[in-house]
Amino acid sequence: MSVKVKLNRNPIQVYSDKFMKPVYFTPGPSELFYTVPDHLKKGLREHIFSINHRSSRFREIVAETKSNLTELFQLPDGYRMAFVSSASEVWERIVLNLVEENAGFIVNGYFSERFANIAEQWGRNTERYDVNHGTCADIDKIQFSDGVEVIGITHNETSTGATHPLDEIYKLRDKYPDSLIAVDIVSSAPVYDIDFDKIDTAYFSVQKGFGLPAGLGVWIYNQRCLDKTLEMEKRGVMTGSYHKLSRLTEQIDHDQTASTPNMMGIYLLGKVAGDMLEKGIDMIRRESRYKAALTYEAFEKNPHMDTFVKEQNYRSQTTMVASLEKSKEWIAQLEGKGIIVGNGYGLYKELQIRIANFPTHSKEQFERLSDELLKLD
Ligand SMILES: *Cc1c(COP(=O)(O)O)cnc(C)c1O
Repeated sequence: MSVKVKLNRNPIQVYSDKFMKPVYFTPGPSELFYTVPDHLKKGLREHIFSINHRSSRFREIVAETKSNLTELFQLPDGYRMAFVSSASEVWERIVLNLVEENAGFIVNGYFSERFANIAEQWGRNTERYDVNHGTCADIDKIQFSDGVEVIGITHNETSTGATHPLDEIYKLRDKYPDSLIAVDIVSSAPVYDIDFDKIDTAYFSVQKGFGLPAGLGVWIYNQRCLDKTLEMEKRGVMTGSYHKLSRLTEQIDHDQTASTPNMMGIYLLGKVAGDMLEKGIDMIRRESRYKAALTYEAFEKNPHMDTFVKEQNYRSQTTMVASLEKSKEWIAQLEGKGIIVGNGYGLYKELQIRIANFPTHSKEQFERLSDELLKLD
């Protein structure tokens, strides 16, 4: 007798094959990293989510997560990371802690725009460099004022599937040596190999490439960021309270957090980063290129769809976006086969599908997805 089917009140979970496990190709929240269930069980068994967050046991967990992420990202000396609630929180923290007056933002989609809006809402002078959705900025053409304290750029625009080539992002440092370069790596980490020496701060949420339950943001920053905020504080500028950068730093330097943190998230993140190291980040990157290529090939081969991002060089490996005729119908059709893809973002809601290609997704899952994409007509 199958009790499971009886309890299924969510129509999304009724598949043509009712024993089929759905795969979430949605760009966040997404499919959980495949080791998460085991780590969760172990965490429960060991009471990790009940222990005191100031205990030495929990500090060891924080230290392990820091260490595994430092290795995974190959963070240079002098870069730190703080644990906050989300990437959205980091947008606001960057504005409060690192921008006294002027900031510049490269806007090529909804997420990059939101960062600029937050700076505006806090009354900062905001310079925007806008390019069309589905494209990226040519850094040589940007003309921010010399006094911009922070330049915000989104590596992978999850709303459009456009990725700034890293060499373009690195040009910002040469062009604006006095500005802090802030890079949104929410939906590209840890798949792309970023040279952190060429940027000052980056941030991500865990429900995208790391395949964890949402509710944890990681803010990576260097000494330049810390110096800047300390200098502002010295002059009496209000940079925030419990989560201001100086306080986050004091705490994290002792493997502590400023408030009772998302202990489950920090624990799972350290474990999953460890699993990724064990698998090998190079292998993850190779597989990612293969899975992306399969998907773009399907977009091109199916006469009813098209890749939204025209320029090859800007096409994302981690969120592939297709323009198509019948997005709603096709999303439902795929869902019936246990393939959950994302709809379009904002204006494109019913005109596109978005497919996440994160480290948890296997080559076999992508081969199946690609077959099903080719069948849509
Ligand atoms: C999802 C996303 C965010 C926001 O993440 P939250 O966890 O919702 O704060 C920011 N930037 C990009 C590029 C994203 O994909």
